[in-house]
Amino acid sequence: MDTFHLLDHDRVVFFTGAGISAESGVPTYRGSGGIWSQYRWQEVACEAAFRIDPDAVLRFHEKRRALVAACPPNPAHCHIASWQQRHAGITVITQNTDGLHQRAGSTDVIELHGSLWRLRCREHGPMADVSSDGAYRQTQCPACNARLRPDITWFDDAVDVAVFHAASQAIAAADLFVAVGTSAAVWPAAGLIDEAAHRGISTVEINPQETGASAAFGSHLRGLASVMVPRCFPLDNS
Ligand code: NAD
Repeated sequence: MDTFHLLDHDRVVFFTGAGISAESGVPTYRGSGGIWSQYRWQEVACEAAFRIDPDAVLRFHEKRRALVAACPPNPAHCHIASWQQRHAGITVITQNTDGLHQRAGSTDVIELHGSLWRLRCREHGPMADVSSDGAYRQTQCPACNARLRPDITWFDDAVDVAVFHAASQAIAAADLFVAVGTSAAVWPAAGLIDEAAHRGISTVEINPQETGASAAFGSHLRGLASVMVPRCFPLDNS
C-alpha cells in the first residue's frame, strides 16, 4: 500500500468531490437514489426556476440543508483537517456544497460550486446564512432588500471566476495533488486535474472505481475515502 509523507511536500492540494461525503450519508446527484432521480433540476436548481418560483427553489435547498446538517463529517474530512492543523501548506479545493470540510475543522477551503450555507445577492455578493436545522434565516438582502438566492453554482451559472482562479493558483504552487471521490465529469472543475497533471507534479487519485480522469494520475488508491485518506497519509510520519 502506497503511503505519502505530507511533510516532504511544501504545498499540497486535496481536490474533493461528492464521493468524500458519500460515507457521511450525503446522497450523490446522479444514479439510482440520487437527487436528480427525485427532482427535475430545471424546476429547482437553475436561475430560470428561481425567477419563476423562488419559494419552490428555496424549499428544495432547505431540504438539502436539513439533510446535510444531519450528516457528520467522516474520517476522510477529519483527517485532512488534522493535517491542515499541522501543515500550513495544505489547501482543500472542493466541488461539494455541503460544508463538511469546515465542520471537520478545515479552514483553507476553496468551494468551487458555492455553499448551501450561504445566500447571495446579485448586487452585494455572498453572505453567510448558518442554521442548524436547514431553514433559511433571511430571504432578503439587508442592504438593498433584493430577494436572496442560494450561493450555489446552478446548472445555468458560470463558476465564479475569482474562485476558479484561486483554485488554479493553489495548483500552480502545489507539489502534490490528491483527488478524492470525484468522477471528474463536471467541467470546468475537472480541468483542474489536467492543470495538475500538466505541471508534472505527483498526483494521486482516491476512488473505489476507475474514472474518466484516471489516466492523468500517477498513483491510484482504489478504496473508500474514509479508509484510504487516513491510511495513506499517516499523521505519525510527522
Ligand atoms: P460524482 O457523484 O460525479 O462522483 C462521485 C465519485 O466518488 C465517483 O467517481 C465514485 O466512484 C466516488 N466515490 C463514491 N463513494 C466513494 C467513497 N466512499 N470514497 C471515495 N470515492 C467515492 O461527484 P463529483 O465528481 O463531485 O461531481 C458531481 C457534482 O455534484 C459536483 O459538482 C458536486 O459538487 C455536486 N455534488 C455535491 C454534493 C455534496 O456537496 N456533498 C453531493 C452531490 C453532488
